[in-house]
Amino acid sequence: MAKIDITNLRKTFGDDGEQIVAVDDFNLNIRDGEFLVFVGPSGCGKTTTLRCIAGLEDVTSGTIEFNGTDVTDKRARERDVAMVFQNYALYPHMTVRKNIGFPLRLSTKQTSEEIDSRVQNVTELLGIEDLLEKKPKELSGGQQQRVALGRAIIRDPEVFLMDEPLSNLDAKLRSTMRTELQELQQELGVTTAYVTHDQTEAMAMGDRIVVLNGGVLQQVGTASEVYRSPTNEFVAGFIGSPSINLFTAVVDGNTLTGPGGFSYTLEDESLVAGRDHVRVGIRPEDLTLSESGSLPCEVTVVEQMGNENFLYGKMDDIDITARIESEIRPSEGSVVEFGFAEEDLYLFDAETTEALK
Ligand code: ATP
Repeated sequence: MAKIDITNLRKTFGDDGEQIVAVDDFNLNIRDGEFLVFVGPSGCGKTTTLRCIAGLEDVTSGTIEFNGTDVTDKRARERDVAMVFQNYALYPHMTVRKNIGFPLRLSTKQTSEEIDSRVQNVTELLGIEDLLEKKPKELSGGQQQRVALGRAIIRDPEVFLMDEPLSNLDAKLRSTMRTELQELQQELGVTTAYVTHDQTEAMAMGDRIVVLNGGVLQQVGTASEVYRSPTNEFVAGFIGSPSINLFTAVVDGNTLTGPGGFSYTLEDESLVAGRDHVRVGIRPEDLTLSESGSLPCEVTVVEQMGNENFLYGKMDDIDITARIESEIRPSEGSVVEFGFAEEDLYLFDAETTEALK
């Protein structure tokens, strides 16, 4: 098993004329046995970071250590990592047995009996022991994904690196495989770094989540930390579905006024003292319909989810989303008012977008 320390990692592509900074000033300590998830929008540097950890990409500067040993200049095969990708890259002409056993046949001096017995163990662990003689094209997407996992597990690596391994699966299977993967990771206890662009998946799976944007690490924390204590407006906006409501308010003493008649008097004005403006965030589930609320909203549409409704509307030109009870369906075009608890307000610096604390 391994802990991984990444210090001042920087990775650029291209030459000086047209340089792309994929990852910059990146510092992270991945704990031994941890399931860590990298999440962020397309192009934020998730895959590049993972490939640097794997040794598939030379770093521009910075160091990567496994268990205190500098591996920055070591090649992938010297790092004892196993990778699982989005496209499983199974060998089409080989059976499941051969596909899973392949890494061992390639890299060890084990006899074919030893390899076969190990393949048997791994397939039992993954519940695919009945598929050993089948070829990839005879398998469903989920089964193929399990074979790809089997091929990673069989090497008994110190580190698993997974890049969107579930994204080719349909929604239902993806959610089943999420749970299976987590259980498997816990059982094996192997340090795992996992990349996804899907914040729901990140929240569901990660012991900790690393939020990236534009090649820069924004926050590392548990699901509830990144959700309830986002370090900046980007994290607040990226984590949570439906997304947090965000707008600018004018500060006058302890009163915040915003677009479309938003007006709220703070009990504790210490966070906004000395400021002209702040950015305000309120999560959709923290809004409650109220006779005389602070946040007026013209209803655009109400979506029924079964156990609750999502109300979408406008506060002036600001989009507003609220989660309301399933029995309540305000009509399109009507104006409703929402209240909220002060403790559920998120406040950000209007210029830097950093959270006010
Ligand atoms: P996605 O979710 O779309 O896969 P990502 O977060 O994994 O995105 P990366 O693939 O790490 O992002 O890319 C980060 C940045 O580096 C992007 O601007 C990308 O275009 C650039 N990049 C990645 N690989 C290369 C490469 N081999 N050559 C040039 N630029 C690259």
